[in-house]
Amino acid sequence: MPTLGNPTGTIEVLKKYNFNFQKRFGQNFLIDSNILEKIVSAAEVTKEDCVLEIGPGIGTMTQYLAESAREVIAVEIDKSLIPILEDTLSPYDNVTVINEDILKVDIRKLVEEKNQGRPIKVVANLPYYITTPIIMGLFESHVPLKSITIMIQKEVADRMQVGPGTKDYGALSLAVQYYAKPEVVAYVSPECFIPKPNVGSAVIRLDRYEKPPVQVENEEFMFKIIRAAFNQRRKTLANGLGNASDLPITRAQATEALEELGFGASVRGEALTLEEFAKLSNYLLTIL
Ligand code: SAM
Repeated sequence: MPTLGNPTGTIEVLKKYNFNFQKRFGQNFLIDSNILEKIVSAAEVTKEDCVLEIGPGIGTMTQYLAESAREVIAVEIDKSLIPILEDTLSPYDNVTVINEDILKVDIRKLVEEKNQGRPIKVVANLPYYITTPIIMGLFESHVPLKSITIMIQKEVADRMQVGPGTKDYGALSLAVQYYAKPEVVAYVSPECFIPKPNVGSAVIRLDRYEKPPVQVENEEFMFKIIRAAFNQRRKTLANGLGNASDLPITRAQATEALEELGFGASVRGEALTLEEFAKLSNYLLTIL
């Protein structure tokens, strides 16, 4: 069995199985051992940990995870990769491969079965086309989680960690920062993958908060307000909230709340911090 995590070993395995890359599955396999080591070390995987890997590909990072973790669950959508994974992961008895779409897996149930409901770590080189649904799915379904350490598109990683006053700040920044503390661990060039993606990449670690950093009466309501604020980015927040079809708020009520909280009637959503959105959402609930 060739060593994976380098171009020669990866090409050898791909040739042996006559594997054809599927663009629609976001298949860009890692071929740089330095980056692989960096991801696993940033995730601080230990022999206590149960790790969920999303999209193992040919099993390159899975091998690193199997060496460091107690148990690895790897969910791969592409059935043509399953025989390859059986081969590359044959030396390990602590890996379970599941041939499924991660967006259809009941991860809470899986964590209950495999880790008795104790928090897991997620480590992955994600398929970029479904980054946001994967992350928001993990957070919103309240899967027991310690951290998520993932390779994603560089621009998306930047959006996750910025605050007000930058063009990248938006609903994704606020959603991620409500659930976790983000930290970019490394920027990664397209040269580190086969085939090369046409975007830059970054490894980001999201440390799940046990308790959210702000006090919110109704999470769902706050996220509706946040989405409305950034859906109409160029409008004032009062207009954005007044126009939102899924919120029972009039422009006059929004203006009253913004003035009462000292933000000013003409403030834009992009100027508010997470804490300020929490205050606004809590206040609006009292006047509706
Ligand atoms: N982990 C491998 C590596 O680092 O070389 C492969 C990473 S590649 C960027 C993404 C992987 O996710 C591919 O193997 C792809 O088939 C798989 N994938 C794509 N969509 C998926 C989905 N909805 N559920 C599970 N796996 C998926």
